[in-house]
Amino acid sequence: MFTSLSCCDFCAGLIYQLQFKRLVVGDITNYGGNEEKHRQKGVQLEILEDPEGVAFYAKFAKERPDPDREDAGGLPAVRKVATAKC
Ligand SMILES: [Zn+2]
Repeated sequence: MFTSLSCCDFCAGLIYQLQFKRLVVGDITNYGGNEEKHRQKGVQLEILEDPEGVAFYAKFAKERPDPDREDAGGLPAVRKVATAKC
């Protein structure tokens, strides 16, 4: 399986359930955290950390913070920030 950012807990669970053997992650700088868990579960993990890709996502997250927040924390994370601004 290939993914641009590291997997959230939900996706990581599906990777184990569906028994993916190999996971290639493009960027753990902007979103990471389950890398050790993947290794412990026996998933062959490759982390690319292409500087151009990391910079591209960082730019996106800065310019469009709501979609980035929603991806990482779901709609409750977006609503929490919107409520705090009121
Ligand atoms: Zn996910």
